[in-house]
Amino acid sequence: MNNQIQNPDSHRILLVDDNPANLNLLIAILETQDYSLSAVLDGSQALKVASEIKPDLILMDIVMPNMDGYETTKYFKSNDDTRDIPIIFITEKNEPEDIKKAFESGGVDFISKPINAEEVLVRVESHLKIQMLLKQNKKIIEELQEANLKLDAQAKTDHLTGLFNRRSIVEIIEYEITRALRSKETFCLVLGDIDHFKQLNDSYGHLAGDHILIELSQLMKKVTRDQDVLARWGGEEFLLVLPATDLVGARLLAEKIRARVAEESFDFNGQQLKVTMSFGVESCDGSDDYNDSFKTADENLYKAKSEGRNRVVG
Ligand SMILES: [Mg+2]
Repeated sequence: MNNQIQNPDSHRILLVDDNPANLNLLIAILETQDYSLSAVLDGSQALKVASEIKPDLILMDIVMPNMDGYETTKYFKSNDDTRDIPIIFITEKNEPEDIKKAFESGGVDFISKPINAEEVLVRVESHLKIQMLLKQNKKIIEELQEANLKLDAQAKTDHLTGLFNRRSIVEIIEYEITRALRSKETFCLVLGDIDHFKQLNDSYGHLAGDHILIELSQLMKKVTRDQDVLARWGGEEFLLVLPATDLVGARLLAEKIRARVAEESFDFNGQQLKVTMSFGVESCDGSDDYNDSFKTADENLYKAKSEGRNRVVG
């Protein structure tokens, strides 16, 4: 028996009872309201039908052959997909011990036989309302969590280039220091700056400048390794953190980026723009203040500029 009275917009209720007369009585009571009703005669059918129709509420008889109402409810509660469906027991077993067992097995409420129509309607309606509010709350919490994750990502990201911003790269450096101390490996800082960027902005406009910043960010990401971290340090300056890398390796990588940038042409509204970059490199073993390493990288960048730009110093 699987009587179904369907209305796609209404709440779905699954009725479980081994006695067809009881089911017919429940159907007669509940079909006065706008519910979609399904009815089954035993626990295993209840599990099968519930996985298909995903009911909003279940009315469950306790005394049934094979699998009784307690056992069937435990199955529902042990499955992630059906755990949250409220189950109301309908039974003639209403000794305190039975009621206790019904709640312990996961039921939310208890209706005694003989069935009173008014009581069934009131309890069903109130549990559907509670269920709806719980679902709404869950949805609001999920939306808030998602919004928080987005805000968190935005707070760590440079708006224009999508690279890490200054704040988050400092956190990454602090993490690299603890790792360097533990592993006894150095990491390196590479400070890169676009040569004559002001001139480019003056000649082609700020949109061209922004375009170059975005294109260079992507190019540098391509050239660097997965473990390297790239940030926009500010203006036209980029900072690369190279974990578990010595000065020789850092110089090589900086040189590779420099060469790739110098050979690239950047298309901006049909104009082919060329830029170069200068780099200052320094290693850090974690034992010194990283600000000292950063200062040295900055001085090396200054040297690269004063020695004619488009070069790596470190
Ligand atoms: Mg029964």
